[in-house]
Amino acid sequence: MRLQLTKNTEFIIERLEENGYDAFAVGGCVRDLIMGRIADDFDITTSALPNETKNVFFDFPTIEIGIRHGTVAVILDKRPYEITTFRVESDYTDSRHPDSVEFVRDIESDLARRDFTVNAIAYSHTRGIVDPFGGIDDIKNKQIRAVGDPYKRFSEDALRILRALRFSSTLGFEIEKNTKEAIDSLAHTLKSVSPERVYTELKKLLLGKNCQEVLNQFHSSLSKIIPMNGDYQSVYKCPADEAMRFYCLCGDKTQDALLAVRADNNAKNVCKILSASKVIPENEIELKKYISSLGKANAETVIAYRRAVYDEDAEGKSILLLKSGAPLFISDLAVNGNDLLGIGVAPNNIGKVLSMLLNSVLENNSENTKEALLNKAKSQIY
Ligand code: ATP
Ligand code: MG
Repeated sequence: MRLQLTKNTEFIIERLEENGYDAFAVGGCVRDLIMGRIADDFDITTSALPNETKNVFFDFPTIEIGIRHGTVAVILDKRPYEITTFRVESDYTDSRHPDSVEFVRDIESDLARRDFTVNAIAYSHTRGIVDPFGGIDDIKNKQIRAVGDPYKRFSEDALRILRALRFSSTLGFEIEKNTKEAIDSLAHTLKSVSPERVYTELKKLLLGKNCQEVLNQFHSSLSKIIPMNGDYQSVYKCPADEAMRFYCLCGDKTQDALLAVRADNNAKNVCKILSASKVIPENEIELKKYISSLGKANAETVIAYRRAVYDEDAEGKSILLLKSGAPLFISDLAVNGNDLLGIGVAPNNIGKVLSMLLNSVLENNSENTKEALLNKAKSQIY
């Protein structure tokens, strides 16, 4: 099997080989290429020690990303390429960090420390596929299987449990029976995963094509680290937006959960707006004012969410309003700031007057024409 590597990846592997080292593309990029997907992020693994890698690429800028863990990035065409020395990890006392990392000279040992068989495949043009754990068969059978004893592997690093769920969701693979049993029985160790890591994995999980099945299957494990108080059975109905799906998952516990995982303000704001949109006004003028107060982007978010999750009729009132082109926002008004300056409104009053005009349009007291609005504005200048 010949896989399509990028030119720069080929160059890096060839140069390491010319200098007497082994080198391979490894991990997610090989998995994706075998699945016929486009891989963008190429991880390279080599028998060269970090300093040896730096010497081999003496004529390129390098960054010591984690020299203790064996990773050096070489910059080619302004892009960093991560090159990691073959290594094994020993003794995890805290289910999180290996106590020590040891560099080794053979690819098989390096592949053995990787999490899942589908991620433990290496490839180079000269050596072909190296697949000691049956990763290609597992890709064919669409399954996530731990490398080695799943209990041992998840006990070493509980993050792998979340990664298994995440890959099952994004790749659409089932989790193999023994691996699943280990996940179920070690779910309590998920508490040792840092909240930021939980969030990173969860966001990917929520956007995966198999997400609903994973949420249903691993509901009890996941609820140990994230409050699944929402209508989580409907997550798959939501548009593919991290914040919307997170809100759908956590419901009234969303803000607490977002705080716990140190989410950014954008996610918090979107979820706040969704939470406040549970009940929207029936009355048309009130509905217009509500949509207007959200602003265009937020209004679209709320409408997309409601339409998806509440099965709100595609021709629901709020959607019709947005689609009808009815003026709802200041940018929809037939006049702008310059027009108001032209009739003598003081510059520091422009914002206020525009809001007043919008309000009167929303309340059906003014037509949205230049003439009507300028007359209205003039009547307010004294
Ligand atoms: P993605 O497509 O999300 O980048 P990936 O498989 O490349 O998926 P990375 O997090 O980039 O995932 O990790 C690269 C490789 O490193 C994995 O394919 C796997 O071989 C190994 N790996 C990453 N995290 C772990 C872990 N916690 N335990 C064991 N191996 C891991
Ligand atoms: Mg990757």
